Amino acid sequence: MTRKEFLKITSVAMTGSMMIPWACSSKETRVEEIKEEIRKNWAGNYTYQAKNLYEPQTVEEVQELVLKLSKQKALGSTHCFNDIADSPENQISTKKLNKVVSLDKEKKILTVESGARYGDFAEELDAAGFALANLASLPHITVAGACATATHGSGVKNGNLATQVAGIELVTPSGELMTIDQNHPDFPAMVVGLGAFGIITKVSLKVEDTFQVRQDVFLNLPLASMEKNFEEIMSSGYSVSLFTDWTNKNISEVWVKRRVDSNSEDLGNDFFGAIAATKNMHPIQALSAEPCSEQMGVPGPWYNRLPHFKMGFTPSAGEELQSEFFIPRSNAVKGILAVEKLNAEISPQLLVTEIRTIASDNFWMSPCYHQDSVSIHFTWKQNPTEVMALIPKIEEVLAPFSVKPHWGKLFKVNPATLHQRYTKFPEFLALAKQYDPSGKFRNAYLDLNIY
Ligand SMILES: Cc1cc2nc3c(=O)[nH]c(=O)nc-3n(C[C@H](O)[C@H](O)[C@H](O)COP(=O)(O)OP(=O)(O)OC[C@H]3O[C@@H](n4cnc5c(N)ncnc54)[C@H](O)[C@@H]3O)c2cc1C
Repeated sequence: MTRKEFLKITSVAMTGSMMIPWACSSKETRVEEIKEEIRKNWAGNYTYQAKNLYEPQTVEEVQELVLKLSKQKALGSTHCFNDIADSPENQISTKKLNKVVSLDKEKKILTVESGARYGDFAEELDAAGFALANLASLPHITVAGACATATHGSGVKNGNLATQVAGIELVTPSGELMTIDQNHPDFPAMVVGLGAFGIITKVSLKVEDTFQVRQDVFLNLPLASMEKNFEEIMSSGYSVSLFTDWTNKNISEVWVKRRVDSNSEDLGNDFFGAIAATKNMHPIQALSAEPCSEQMGVPGPWYNRLPHFKMGFTPSAGEELQSEFFIPRSNAVKGILAVEKLNAEISPQLLVTEIRTIASDNFWMSPCYHQDSVSIHFTWKQNPTEVMALIPKIEEVLAPFSVKPHWGKLFKVNPATLHQRYTKFPEFLALAKQYDPSGKFRNAYLDLNIY
């Protein structure tokens, strides 16, 4: 969507009844079915097994497909590292469902089609005077796909991206269209829904007045200083990330993102023992900072500072694997130090680790359900055998903290153990079975980890 189209659509929303109607759909099904080629996820580490891929362009087309097809799964921008988005039969891509539907300026609600990527509409949303409270490290992911796996950024007061959701529209297994808002009793189960309930076609997001952010990076924070000052460091900005390769008892980079409308004076050269960077940095120090969002304290719009990576560039390393583990924030330092003991095994397989904080939320399958959390993330070299052998060791040292893995990344924890760590797991399972009694949306991932 061009900026002109966005502004046109949002101005219609403003001058009419505040909300424009849902997009119309055609009677004739033009669904593209793509069969032949080998299809992989973004990182290229997983080959989808689904025999058919469909790319519907309208909600009606999604309804027809859902009704017609047996086994199926929604596919967003393919950024997960495991088989969560796969299906034994059919994948329904939301690639062509990427439009902005409406912006209700009074209620501060933006509605987008489920396949819209944050970077598709962020600039235009900003131009209309609004912002999302937070973003993940990259803007390349779809709204529905990100929320389905509890994707998050950082910030002691920022919940994951699903906490921005005010409502969803989804197609249930019978092809019915259903709207679930925050008052619906199933809302806390279905937003971080792991694709188990149906195909989400629209997502309404809470927006706020636009804001500017400055980003300052500090180098070489001694691990001992992190240990002593963890809370203060993580609270020093609106969104703070620590990067380390676990060598030399050192946090190689601290990224501090602060809203310029609040307390954002210069942090000086000495930040808890780390020194201010003198140029833009990449989290993986060997790589060029060109794909990274602007740093050096230069203020800029939220959508250009909250993600680490710019929309037009490849985020992260590209050829990589990822895993990430959540523990209570109250145990952050203990957990980080427990992982640090594995440094001799981790470092040779690692590109970089990122440590972030995420505020508690109310989504049943969110790793941060009713728990202020810290996440310890690993961007690995693409050595699946070595990495999959290491993951259980990390899960084991974090087990005393009831560790939960990121749903979209690589993990090995025993499903029964995982279920015990989710207090609302039985209710989630019962609801998934109720919505999808014939198992249309079940796949190997859900069969292993949920059912
Ligand atoms: C380089 C890189 C950086 C990343 N950075 C972060 C980060 O900062 N923070 C973080 O938490 N994660 C991060 N991730 C992980 C990623 O954001 C999530 O795994 C996210 O789910 C990917 O969204 P997607 O659109 O690609 O979803 P997909 O991988 O396509 O699908 C994920 C799940 O969502 C479901 N789904 C997708 N669309 C719909 C729909 N319309 N209706 C119902 N279900 C749907 C799928 O069925 C599947 O179960 C990163 C990944 C990469 C590759």
